[in-house]
Amino acid sequence: MDLDYTATDLAFRDTVRAFLEANLPTDLQQKVRMHRRLERDDYVRWHRICAKQGWAAPAWPVEFGGPGWSATERHIWEEECARAGTPPILPFGVNMVAPVIMAFGNAAQKAYYLPRILNCDDWWCQGYSEPGSGSDLASLKTTAERVGEHYIVNGQKTWTTLGQHADMIFCLVRTDGTVRKQEGISFLLIDMKTPGITVRPIIMLDEEHEVNEVFFDNVKVPVENLIGQENKGWTYAKYLLGHERTGIAAVGRSKRELLFLKKIATEQRKGGRPLLQDPVFGAKVASLEIELMALEMTVLRVITKADHRPGPEASLLKIRGSEIQQQLTELMLEALGPAGLPFDTDYLEGKREHALTGDDAAAPLAGYYFNFRKTSIYGGSNEIQKNIITQMILGL
Ligand SMILES: Cc1cc2nc3c(=O)[nH]c(=O)nc-3n(C[C@H](O)[C@H](O)[C@H](O)COP(=O)(O)OP(=O)(O)OC[C@H]3O[C@@H](n4cnc5c(N)ncnc54)[C@H](O)[C@@H]3O)c2cc1C
Repeated sequence: MDLDYTATDLAFRDTVRAFLEANLPTDLQQKVRMHRRLERDDYVRWHRICAKQGWAAPAWPVEFGGPGWSATERHIWEEECARAGTPPILPFGVNMVAPVIMAFGNAAQKAYYLPRILNCDDWWCQGYSEPGSGSDLASLKTTAERVGEHYIVNGQKTWTTLGQHADMIFCLVRTDGTVRKQEGISFLLIDMKTPGITVRPIIMLDEEHEVNEVFFDNVKVPVENLIGQENKGWTYAKYLLGHERTGIAAVGRSKRELLFLKKIATEQRKGGRPLLQDPVFGAKVASLEIELMALEMTVLRVITKADHRPGPEASLLKIRGSEIQQQLTELMLEALGPAGLPFDTDYLEGKREHALTGDDAAAPLAGYYFNFRKTSIYGGSNEIQKNIITQMILGL
């Protein structure tokens, strides 16, 4: 197995680097690199820059507007974006609902939604989880009752990421309560402007409004918004989750954050020398760097094995990737000591240019630490990933 990039891969990487150099706006790059909060327009602006280049949806087939890249090229793109510090292209449209529409939608749905997703004309959010239905997703209770040419939707979704900005939500709804729970679920696309929808913020540990509760009170949804067949939604839901977990290892971002950690640990001093040279702290950083290198090799092995999306191996990548991301934030806070404690929300949100504490690099890191507790929960909690590994890889 050859894990080195070929000359063609390296030439592709140069092309990507040149594009990012020329097109990534400095203000966006600074926000990302300094861990400041991104606004709706920041995400949309970067998405559209990529869309103009034809690179907003790297995994899409060419017929729908994808660039036709190999898995290795997609990996290089993700790595280079992370290295440069681009805002993410949010997955809800491009990587979640779009593959479902491509695979199970009808011609009219493909023609209408896919170009809009590609250009970020609609902001999508994911309506899967409910209170009481997260890991046990199939127990979901939001109902959709067919009345003439509409479904009437009632219930509640929760943890809806960035739903406050959304134009559209894709929802799992119960259309038959009399059969086995997986067999009575359907997949509906719902316009967030429909009367009867209420979005309420959930404020995270870092005081950020990132997730929401979404309530449906007799919401009328046209039947043409049903994907595929009624009561077959569980199949489509699982297909989508396979797409959700790819790229979740976030190796590129962790490499960028490792450099940031080293920068802080070089500036902080202990016993008259840089903290990074302290044997105990230095060993922690080295150990994490080795773990990250091992994860990168594992990602490359998965990619090299076959030019398709990973199966249960994605669970391994998710667990190690999220653990490493969390450890990076822990070591950053440890390196800063008391300097990392203040919460300067105004600086984070761009209401003030420089942090009140005088240390722009340190100001966001307590919030960053708290925010990143989420990585071992979302996308299927790490315990659930361990169950998948136990059953699908170890065969226990
Ligand atoms: C920041 C954030 C953003 C999110 N964004 C979205 C979104 O946009 N859309 C959406 O639909 N959902 C979203 N989620 C929801 C996410 O998918 C769920 O939180 C996750 O699936 C866990 O479900 P739960 O919160 O109900 O916890 P529970 O399922 O109640 O789990 C509680 C604990 O029990 C453990 N556990 C549960 N079952 C088992 C088991 N069988 N074996 C071993 N351990 C188990 C879990 O690992 C966890 O530690 C988001 C969550 C977070 C934190």
